[in-house]
Amino acid sequence: MTAPFDQRYRRSDGRLIWTIAKLAVARDAAGRPKHLIAVIEDISERKAMEQSLRESERFVKSTIDALSEHICVVDEKGCILTVNKAWREYSHNVGVHITQDWIGVNYLDICDKATATGPRDAAAFAEGMRDVLFDRREDFTLEYSCSTEAAERWYLAKVTRFQLDGPVRVVISHENVTQAKLAQQHLTFLAHYDSLTGLPNRVLFYDRLKHTLLQAERSDWTVAVMFIDLDNFKMVNDTMGHAAGDALLKQASARIVAGLRANDTVGRLGDDEFGVFLPDLLSANDAGLVAQKIMDAMACSFMIDNKEHFVTCSIGITVYPHDARDPDSLVSNADTAMYRAKQIGRNNHQYFTAHMNTRMLEHARLENGLRMALERQELFLEYQPQVDMQSGRIVGVEALMRWHHPELGLVAPTTFIPIAEETGLIVAIGEWALGVACAQNVAWQKRSLAPLVMAVNLSARQFKQKDMSDTVRQVLHETGLNGNWLELELTEGIVMENAEALIATMNRLKTYGVRLSLDDFGTGYSNLGYLKRFPLDAIKIDRSFISGIGADFGADESMIASTVITLGHSLRLAVVAEGVETSEQLRTLKALKCDIMQGFLFSTPLSAPAMTHLLEQHAPQ
Ligand code: C2E
Ligand code: MG
Ligand code: MG
Repeated sequence: MTAPFDQRYRRSDGRLIWTIAKLAVARDAAGRPKHLIAVIEDISERKAMEQSLRESERFVKSTIDALSEHICVVDEKGCILTVNKAWREYSHNVGVHITQDWIGVNYLDICDKATATGPRDAAAFAEGMRDVLFDRREDFTLEYSCSTEAAERWYLAKVTRFQLDGPVRVVISHENVTQAKLAQQHLTFLAHYDSLTGLPNRVLFYDRLKHTLLQAERSDWTVAVMFIDLDNFKMVNDTMGHAAGDALLKQASARIVAGLRANDTVGRLGDDEFGVFLPDLLSANDAGLVAQKIMDAMACSFMIDNKEHFVTCSIGITVYPHDARDPDSLVSNADTAMYRAKQIGRNNHQYFTAHMNTRMLEHARLENGLRMALERQELFLEYQPQVDMQSGRIVGVEALMRWHHPELGLVAPTTFIPIAEETGLIVAIGEWALGVACAQNVAWQKRSLAPLVMAVNLSARQFKQKDMSDTVRQVLHETGLNGNWLELELTEGIVMENAEALIATMNRLKTYGVRLSLDDFGTGYSNLGYLKRFPLDAIKIDRSFISGIGADFGADESMIASTVITLGHSLRLAVVAEGVETSEQLRTLKALKCDIMQGFLFSTPLSAPAMTHLLEQHAPQ
């Protein structure tokens, strides 16, 4: 018998016919060839089936090759039957190099090798793979990461076992989900971190604090929570723009972080507010040391736009479990203590005390009351005379604001003016005071009393209003007061902030004839350079320098008063002494050639009718 051979020919109707021919020689009894037998079998159908199977295999192969997922099909023992193009490339990229073709390699061997050498989740994958192969589960998915030199990539692996009519097959696919993972990580970052400083945001800060407090309870820890607020940050933001403000916040946050231990947490809680907690402290006092370290770190200048800036911070500290046990109360306590640090002059740190809460409540009560004070007509002015030292004549009065609270009675301006400044209410009530004072001066002038200069206090916040000079002009116009009879008292705080804008406003006010004086001179940053550049008419020596004159310890105060008077005169400024209470002070000031005095010695601040009465008594005959 010969080996069978194929034959292929096309019939006249175009159909392709496959035959297989086998030839055999028939022999007689003696073994001699007798005749040739040819067996021809039509195998067209089988050939067509084989052809279509090959085509469908090619189709399946090119289809899976076209997929971006890495696909590998294994048999029930784990031997690889096929892999796609993406698979080969991926394996190459992640450093799995198989020298022979993949086909026939046992996938479990690859898994075991990977478990020994990385990637991180290979062991979990190998276990899942065995479960599917050994029919313990149908399928599984696993997200895992692979780090190469270039980057970290994330994959989603799916392993599915199936069996149709034939043997068991297991399809393993790995999809690159790096982009989706990065997008998800970015979203998580945005939801939990502050994008400017990279610090945990309020949400994450509270969450971490909550967990730390649970641990603290189990382990008996002392935890300190700090609230840090940058001083004068708003000024940098307002005068230099938000980009400069952002640069400052970044630098400041880096300095805070640098001052802490690795297991301390810092978060950005608001614009220029940072929260810190220090777990497992040996003693609550340690928090004060850390706060001081942060303040020291802030003390060096910040370089912004190639210019040096100085920013300090105020810090409030509260301690778990002594002051409170939950995150909200602790952060609120630290905030209260920070507020206290601000109140007593900034650039310091304060521990929370229960007493502070009472103060905060009181503060809130006053703030709410003040919002309605103007409308309810609870505010009024008193007037304190200013007397010419040489002639003894009343040449002016200072208008001083008073608030009659319906329950608390008379509230001191030193209490409510700072609240009005903080809340911005000062703009409205300051304008009201200016109007009432100017109208009162006109009323006195109409009574033909000797004309007086009406001095009105202006706070820094009012002066920063863009239309400040327009407001003054408007008030002068409405009340009919000549600008020469109005004096505006500025404080040194105003003077420091934005000199150029301030000078422009001052010059505009001067064109209306308004006088300008510098109040509480000597208590602020007293920069003599400013005194020369500002169009001032007078300086008022602060009461604290006058009160020592004549007392045993008053030598320094007399010296200061004398220096200020000489200085004022050399700059052609009138000098007003505030708070003159004794005749000895008066004598000394007279000898020092002080121009004007104001104080209880002559008169306390008076109501409008009482002041009218006094003026009538002092009217020139
Ligand atoms: P100031 O402008 O320095 O006002 C002088 C303060 O010294 C007044 O306190 C006055 O009553 C007090 N005083 C005057 N003579 C004597 C004295 O001989 N002895 C003592 N011990 N005190 C004397 P007052 O009225 O309590 O006002 C305190 C501060 O509140 C003022 O200080 C001023 O800074 C602010 N203020 C008052 N009214 C207004 C206002 O209408 N607007 C603004 N922005 N601030 C105001
Ligand atoms: Mg004043
Ligand atoms: Mg004063």
